[in-house]
Amino acid sequence: MRTPISKRVRFEVFKRDGFACQYCGAVPPQAFLHVDHINPVSLGGDNSEDNLITACESCNLGKAAVPLSSVPKSLADRAAEVAEREAQIAGYAAVMDAALQRIEDEAWRVAECLQPGASDGYSRDRINGIRHFVRTLGVYPVIEAAQIASGRYGIGSTRAFKYFCGICWAKIRGERE
Ligand SMILES: [Zn+2]
Repeated sequence: MRTPISKRVRFEVFKRDGFACQYCGAVPPQAFLHVDHINPVSLGGDNSEDNLITACESCNLGKAAVPLSSVPKSLADRAAEVAEREAQIAGYAAVMDAALQRIEDEAWRVAECLQPGASDGYSRDRINGIRHFVRTLGVYPVIEAAQIASGRYGIGSTRAFKYFCGICWAKIRGERE
């Protein structure tokens, strides 16, 4: 007998998976998310989070024996689906907002390495560039580049910033320093 997965567990799994289908990467609102059993219930798989994964409707139904979409839905089911879709969209937005905030914080952390006190009137172009590096490379290689550049050309110098950008672009191109 299949036990339904509680909303709390479902959203824990969505959150862990970044509200993205783990098979194709689709996200709300384009995708309606399901929770899929890695080891199927028919083969003894349970509802523990380790056995659950986020799958969009098409990826999940592609695997199902009977497509759910062929079963007529009651009004109550439709209302529940609308509420579920909205909760998924809100959850995905929260994950994205948190990621943006994290990149923003990390970019300013790097700016601080290049120029202590940078949060006061730092150049918008520079922070945009740093944000791009952090998003692409992750924060640690970028901090390392800032330390190397500041060490070589002095903290806060234009030369150091240019050298820092050079290191980051080289890393993005996959070259060695
Ligand atoms: Zn998918």
